[in-house]
Amino acid sequence: GDHIDWARIRADFPLLQREVHGKPLVYLDSANTGQKPAAVIDAVDDFYRRHNANVSRAVHALGSEATEAYEASRRKLAKFLNVRHDELVLCSGTTFAINLVAYSWALPRLKAGDVIVVTRMEHHANIVPWQLVAQRTGCTIKVAEIRDNGELDLDALYAQLTPEVKLLAVTHVSNVLGTVNPVREICREARKRGITTVVDGSQAAPHRPLDIAAIGCDFYALTGHKMAGPTGTGVLWARKETLDAMPPFLGGGEMIKEVRFDGTVFNDAPHKFEAGTPNIAGFIGLGAAVDYLSSIGMANIEAREQALLAHATEELSKIDGLRIFGRAREKAAVISFQIEGAHSHDLATLLDLEGVAVRSGQHCAHPLLQFLGVAATCRASFAFYNTHDEVDALVAAIHKTRRLLG
Ligand code: PMP
Repeated sequence: GDHIDWARIRADFPLLQREVHGKPLVYLDSANTGQKPAAVIDAVDDFYRRHNANVSRAVHALGSEATEAYEASRRKLAKFLNVRHDELVLCSGTTFAINLVAYSWALPRLKAGDVIVVTRMEHHANIVPWQLVAQRTGCTIKVAEIRDNGELDLDALYAQLTPEVKLLAVTHVSNVLGTVNPVREICREARKRGITTVVDGSQAAPHRPLDIAAIGCDFYALTGHKMAGPTGTGVLWARKETLDAMPPFLGGGEMIKEVRFDGTVFNDAPHKFEAGTPNIAGFIGLGAAVDYLSSIGMANIEAREQALLAHATEELSKIDGLRIFGRAREKAAVISFQIEGAHSHDLATLLDLEGVAVRSGQHCAHPLLQFLGVAATCRASFAFYNTHDEVDALVAAIHKTRRLLG
């Protein structure tokens, strides 16, 4: 990625030009949501100014323009993820995608005696839907534990994959620890045992080249707003035959072929799962985001972020009393940390006054924080539009706030 003009790329993001509290913004919360390049903002704006119409219903020109642009985004996403476009359900985000699997795949299949394995490092979006399934079906949940460095204990996990296990829910990349899980190997082991796999790709898709077909999972969920796209966009991928075998989740318009009071014929997948008017402008924006990320190249993005991660890890490690959570050998550019004697919320609040935006709290991962034995952490998360100077600004701001905190 050395040949790339990252300063020019950063300039594509209008919001990064602004100040907060009279200081230049240092946005280190991209794991929470990513900033948007002008190309995405313009695509959404252009849709509402020039093409706005509903999809699929109208024969008029605007209706077909909207439908074409919406379906073009589905095809762009499919290419970006290396899957078939008719295997992508467009939905509001990872949370919706995983709930769709829970309600349409798991609920009709699982029963008392069955087991769902979830890992210790899951986001609540990949825990709570399975708890709802367990409550309704009587199946139970088992936890795959992690090692002190923040990596999954793979030997223990494979030993847990007994015949009662029907489903394994695992995140591709941890939003707290940054750990990149070897999902390809994990899915291969699960598949050998006939276990269905659900991979949460929320924190992987924005940061590395993705090839869902090569992973070999059964379901892959991701969210558009973390990968330069608008909020309220996401996808669920599953093989066509898996989708065909699942009953619809929500009923309404768009998801049907024919409705009669004596029986309704559902549309084919993926449309069967897309009831109602979708987030048309959002997906057009997400299509532009995919174009944008592809024009930089995900391998270049990954290399850039790895350089930022290495610099930040080195500099933060020099700070006395600062503890980093998650030292996995393969990590995404996320650093959770705590400073001895400082409450994470106080620290984040004071950093904000210096213009530095980090997240503090439990990061929708209560079970992981329970394992770490801390009430909260601060999390700095980096994207390709961040700079080495911003890493240094974070470190300087930590030193300054520390003096304030005594
Ligand atoms: N899983 C992970 C690992 C996440 O980081 C997030 C977003 N914080 C989600 C799921 C949920 O994504 P969304 O809120 O967009 O549905």
